[in-house]
This record gives sequence, C-alpha cells and structure tokens, in this order.
Amino acid sequence: MRIAVVSLFPLMLREALGHGVVGRALERGVLGVECFDPRDHATDVHRTVDDRPYGGGPGMVLKVEPLRGASRAAMARLPPGSRRVYLGADGRRFEQSMAREASEWPGLLLVAGRYEGVDERFIERETDEQWSIGDYVLSGGELPALVVIDAIARLMPGTLGSAESAEQESFGDGLVDWPHYTRPASVDGHAVPAVLSSGDHVAIRRWRLQQALGRTWLRRPELLERRGMSREERALLDEFKIERANRAERAED
Ligand code: SAM
Repeated sequence: MRIAVVSLFPLMLREALGHGVVGRALERGVLGVECFDPRDHATDVHRTVDDRPYGGGPGMVLKVEPLRGASRAAMARLPPGSRRVYLGADGRRFEQSMAREASEWPGLLLVAGRYEGVDERFIERETDEQWSIGDYVLSGGELPALVVIDAIARLMPGTLGSAESAEQESFGDGLVDWPHYTRPASVDGHAVPAVLSSGDHVAIRRWRLQQALGRTWLRRPELLERRGMSREERALLDEFKIERANRAERAED
C-alpha cells in the first residue's frame, strides 16, 4: 500500500516513521510513505502557505493553492482508487474498523493541517473524508497522520511477526485485549494466574476470552452492546461477574 502525507513538517514524519513496526514495513516495502510539502507549491518568493482569516480572529489559515498543489502532486504518485483524507478534530472518529478498511485501499492521501486550520474550500473540494483521532485539539495533523499510518501498517500482511498478532489485539474481535504476563511468575507476592502456566490450551483460550469479555464489559460496555455475544460468551461473562462480585465481597470482610 502507498500512503502520501501533505504536511508543512515532513521531517517530523520522516523521523518518526523510521522506527519499530512501521520502520520495518517501510524497509520491507510492504508500505510506502511519501511526504509532500505545500511550501514547494507556493507561488510567491516568500513561499507563503497561510494567510489571515476572513472575518477576523486569531491565528492563520492554510491557503488553498499550496495545499491543492501538494495534494494533486501526491495523488499523481498514488495508484488509481486512492482516497484523500483530511485530518481534523471535527472529523469522523478514527477507529480500528476504519484502519482495517483503509489497509485494503490501494493508496491513501493524508492531509495534515496547522495553525487555525485549513481553508474550507480545500477540504470540500479536494478531500473525500475527514478523520479525527479523538476529541482534543493538537497543534497539527502530523501526529494524527502518524497514528493512522501506524494503525494501518500493523494490519498489512508481512508487517507483524505472526499473522495472528493483529487479529488477537484489542478491537480485532470487537473486544478489548486480555491481560498479558511474562516472567517472573511472581512479583512482590503477585502471582501470574495459574491457568496460564497449566499448559491446558483449551482452558487458556477460555480464560483469555473471558477476560476480554469482562474487561470490555467493565471498560467499554458500548463495544459489547454493538458486537453482541454467543451463548458461550454470555456464560463466560456471567461467570466473570460472579467471580468479581465474590472477590469484592471477600475484600470487604
Ligand atoms: N481550529 C481547529 C479546531 O478548532 O478544530 C484546530 C486547528 S489545529 C490547531 C491544527 C490542525 O491540527 C488541524 O488543521 C488538523 O489538521 C490537526 N488536528 C488537531 N487536532 C486533531 C485531531 N484531534 N484529529 C485530527 N487532526 C487534528
């Protein structure tokens, strides 16, 4: 898959992209990321990319022409069928299901804004979708672009060590992840749940599913509602709730 990012801070992206899972995906050619600087498409000697907002108010707004120039140059390098996404705090909330969908697109253009934002005419006419990474305001779209690229890269075949890893993570099956443990078996008297060292793979699978269901019920009940449960899962969750209530009762005694 090929991704292009329009950004005034391409170095920030390039530096961050060289590490870990994404760095490996780029090295292996599973993913290609190219940056396009609107400044290279400014038409005046000062390479101006922003201007004061119509109607007054603080801050500067990114101008249409340099953004459009960078964005069209980027699209010319991406395969047909690629989609254009503007990253903005008021966009559709980015979720794992969107990362999964996007990982099957031939290419993706991400546009990172800065300052007070981007001239609305660019967003309306030169992008297909708007995505937000959460209900908070960042100084620029570079961190959101990195978040989106990272989430997509993990889903590309050949990026992670084991093909199963991405499926077993949070949201892979509509549930959050189960807890993980590694050696030593006991830390300050806190032991690893015995089932995990039992070698009984059926019991381990059952325990993990139960923990994932329980944690989703506790932390993200809306996910569970949206996903639904099988009869076996419902029984596991009931058992989780009973054990939790018993533990709370014992702690009170
Ligand atoms: N005036 C804008 C507002 O109130 O939504 C904030 C502009 S912000 C300082 C500058 C740029 O950061 C935006 O153009 C957008 O590209 C990016 N940005 C900020 N928060 C974001 C978020 N939560 N998700 C995606 N992009 C974000």
